[in-house]
Amino acid sequence: MPAAGSGLRFAADLPKQYLPLAGRTIIECALQPFLADGRCVQLVVALAAGDARFAQLPAAGNPRVSVVTGGAQRSDSVLAALLSIAAADDEWVLVHDAARPCVTRAEIDALLAAAKMDPVGALLAQPLADTLKRGAADGRVRETPARDALWRAQTPQAFRLGPLRTALTAARAAGRVPTDEAQAMEWQGQLPLLVSGSALNLKITEVTDLALAAMVLAQRGASP
Ligand code: C5P
Repeated sequence: MPAAGSGLRFAADLPKQYLPLAGRTIIECALQPFLADGRCVQLVVALAAGDARFAQLPAAGNPRVSVVTGGAQRSDSVLAALLSIAAADDEWVLVHDAARPCVTRAEIDALLAAAKMDPVGALLAQPLADTLKRGAADGRVRETPARDALWRAQTPQAFRLGPLRTALTAARAAGRVPTDEAQAMEWQGQLPLLVSGSALNLKITEVTDLALAAMVLAQRGASP
């Protein structure tokens, strides 16, 4: 779980993953389905250097949870976490953003079911519904790219440990920064599988996302 971002788009005085959500913090909500899942034998959280907040959360005391220091880019944080895992190269790893607190067990099940049948791996994603516009600095439309076959990539993303570690190491060596794990695999000539997810697996980027996530989790609490 990459959790080393500063959440600069939030005007908060703490990184966004520690903002309150559903009586806990965003990162605790993001961790919860994995902590509750017996198939998940180890959880590695990549934290910003000097992060003193994670250690105060109950999850930090869970024997399956360990922490590493993340890096300057999300991909550096993910690689640091992967390098700390002592497991066979063909073990599955799921990479999940600390900023996605609404992922469900059903979505994780669907992702794993698809990934396990696949030689490369898979990611949760959603077909794009909106019309896209490419804008310019003057605020005017320059282009309407075709949206056919476009998806919004989400997390978790599931790959085998060895190939993902290799892909992220190669990207770094080439001075390239993938914005998700699938992109690093694509640069290796691999074609990750798209698994249809839900719009409710939203990423907290702005204050409005936090309000939406609170509604999603409250709704589930009311009718589990
Ligand atoms: O900023 P953004 O929402 O794209 O970050 C996605 C995830 O990557 C967040 O959970 C954030 O904490 C993490 N991240 C990280 N290391 C960085 C930058 C972001 O672990 N250097």
